[in-house]
Amino acid sequence: MIKEITAKNQSTSWVEVSKSALAHNIKLIKAKIVDDVNLMAVVKANAYGHGDVIVSEAIRKLVDYLGVASVSEAITLRENGITTDILIFAPVQKEELYLYKKHNFTAVIGSFNELNLIDDDISFHIEFDTGMGRLGFYPEESTKVIEFLKQNNLKPAGIMTHFAKADHPNDESVHGQIWVFEGCYKAFNTTFGDLIVHASNSGGTLHYTYPYNMVRCGLSIYGYDPAGIINDLRPVLRWASKVIACKPIKKGMPVSYESTWRASEDGFLVVIPIGYADGIPRNLSNKLQMYCKGKLLQQVGNVTMDYTMLFSSSFVELGSEIEILGPNSMTPVEWAKYNSTIPYEITCGIHPKIKRILVD
Ligand SMILES: *Cc1c(COP(=O)(O)O)cnc(C)c1O
Repeated sequence: MIKEITAKNQSTSWVEVSKSALAHNIKLIKAKIVDDVNLMAVVKANAYGHGDVIVSEAIRKLVDYLGVASVSEAITLRENGITTDILIFAPVQKEELYLYKKHNFTAVIGSFNELNLIDDDISFHIEFDTGMGRLGFYPEESTKVIEFLKQNNLKPAGIMTHFAKADHPNDESVHGQIWVFEGCYKAFNTTFGDLIVHASNSGGTLHYTYPYNMVRCGLSIYGYDPAGIINDLRPVLRWASKVIACKPIKKGMPVSYESTWRASEDGFLVVIPIGYADGIPRNLSNKLQMYCKGKLLQQVGNVTMDYTMLFSSSFVELGSEIEILGPNSMTPVEWAKYNSTIPYEITCGIHPKIKRILVD
């Protein structure tokens, strides 16, 4: 009985992930880079909320590498049978070193502290901070890093940097970062032979021409151009729920906490069983539209923790499907605009407990 109730609760909403949209986006990205450039799909943060295991399974034959933010994310993939090469962006921690060896993960090394931890059993890339202001060696440390590696018989498999502003086409700072990075990777290639050289995220790949021999794409794989310019990428995700209540509402009646909305005409109040605990930002209250049976319904009143209300001029059958995000309703890009954020934060915000289903 308890099991049955739990199962029902879990299906208050679900996320559909389109395999063909993933393939379409990857094809489009590959058309931007030449044949011998590798593609890394970034699947950190539960594949930007799309479900890391199902996404990785769906695309593993189409990409060369997977990128994640932590060892635990990488282990989740291995435990689910994903054998693709995985690069872990996080700094190496002493306690996790054996896991890199055990699961054949590739590390990213960005400090002397980390260099002192590793040995030649671990595959690693060296990261340079050329202007991102996050992880990595500063370019000035390049010579010292090369010396250290030589002295300790360590050979990197790759070298990378990360752009701060590649989401803006033709930004001066990207060209500046590239210029600095050229100095770093050329010195490495001279010393260690040809390494895997990579810098571009989605913005870099779509709007600049520095693919080197690998690009690291996240957002574009999921169907969005961070610059909002390329619109033939196809959004991969559709988030849907079901109507759990529908009752008449009279003109003038208030809806939800703080009574921020009142009916301007008689109609029906439609309730769906998801709220800000599931990933609908409360800031978007009264701004959303959701699709139901051929119509867009206005979301009304404050979004609550577990329930969100919509207004309909006609009765909606209980159990009717409501598209929360998707091709017929609003997109994560539109939600992001209303919430002064980026689509990354919207899709990552869909609670991991919600079921992800691979479709087509
Ligand atoms: C997240 C991340 C990416 C992917 O960025 P997108 O803009 O989603 O393509 C690439 N490289 C690193 C180091 C990252 O942290």
